Amino acid sequence: MSNEIVLTLKTDFAEKFKNGYPLISKESISDWSRVPSEGSILKLFDEKKNFIAKGYHGIQNKGYGWVLSTKEDEIIDITLFKNKISSAIKYREDFYQDDKTTAFRVFNGEGDGVGGLTIDYFDGYYLLTWYSIGIYEFREEILEALKLTVEYKGIYQKKRFDSKGMYLNENDDFLYGQKAPEPLIVKENGANFAIYLDDGAMVGVFLDQREVRKTIRDKYAKGKSALNTFSYTGVFSVFAALGGATQTTSVDLAKRSRPKTQEQFTINSIDLDKQSIIVEDVFDYFKYAVRKKLSFDIVIVDPPSFARSKKRTFSANKDYVKLLKEVITITSKNGLIVASTNSANFSMMTFRDFIKTAFKELRVKYKVEESFSLPKDFKVLNECKESDYLKVVFIRRFG
Ligand code: SAH
Repeated sequence: MSNEIVLTLKTDFAEKFKNGYPLISKESISDWSRVPSEGSILKLFDEKKNFIAKGYHGIQNKGYGWVLSTKEDEIIDITLFKNKISSAIKYREDFYQDDKTTAFRVFNGEGDGVGGLTIDYFDGYYLLTWYSIGIYEFREEILEALKLTVEYKGIYQKKRFDSKGMYLNENDDFLYGQKAPEPLIVKENGANFAIYLDDGAMVGVFLDQREVRKTIRDKYAKGKSALNTFSYTGVFSVFAALGGATQTTSVDLAKRSRPKTQEQFTINSIDLDKQSIIVEDVFDYFKYAVRKKLSFDIVIVDPPSFARSKKRTFSANKDYVKLLKEVITITSKNGLIVASTNSANFSMMTFRDFIKTAFKELRVKYKVEESFSLPKDFKVLNECKESDYLKVVFIRRFG
């Protein structure tokens, strides 16, 4: 049984939680009298001692915990987690039915009622990701709830928190059932992806870009050349090629990106001869492209929020305008830029301002064709829109 701690909310915050806001911050509480251990149950009351919500303590970025229930008598147990997982699955029924897409998110943290936990589905295999020690303390209940709710081939997990050596005998990502083949081949809108469930922090594909990939393939790629920067395993290039791009170029500084990208092309029967895969810092590649007077009809730019390489540090917040200016320079006239960021530090409005500034400084005209945020399976609460971190804008360059 977890430790229970009674805490008082500051007035403004009590109102927010009553309306369904899920994130417990340090500032929202007026009496952190006892320092709770991660995984403790927090019972939140307003200053008049009315019950408001209960949740757990887990340190994740700037957050201190997440609300799990607004019912005073509800117990945080297997039944609670089972109910939340069942509703999450119901919400994604159409994904389970769709045989052209066999990889999607089943449970999206606070969007599905448990901040700090995500569950992804890969053709019968489930991957849980734990974002704090606090939520990991509930792993037995949550895993039991999942096993009672779904049929599975196998269950895997990733820990996305600094475990400070606490769980030494649990270094394996594989938990139950059968092990998945390596690679595990899944489908996305008819295309194939090679997924590795037990090979480091990431599995090979970011599922939140599904609609963006489809849009590139179905609406923009035909007959065009495409440059994919920060290409990782190259799956944007794969979709461009499947949509009829004449040629693709993928640039990433990680050495592994070359074999990984080749593999994604090969399992989609795409001729590697027309695809160029370059292992290099994109900022060096931009210089090279300018020197060689290269330009591309489509340039995809999806950098990490923050990256440090030997030569430089990149932060989306500070450097996106500079990055876009480089991109605009090597985009053909009337070409398309797909500008993306997963940075939670700024809003879509700010991102649109970055775009405006970059084009203005280069005196180039543009038009926004369309934009994307998280897809349906990455469920976000209306009360917590800031959880929607994804911003993708399709920009037409004029002149
Ligand atoms: N766009 C990809 C995901 C990008 S992940 C997709 O949708 O699949 C971020 C990638 O950026 C990583 O593969 C990392 O190796 C690469 N990266 C980070 N800094 C870089 C730099 N300066 N130049 C080239 N690649 C970089």
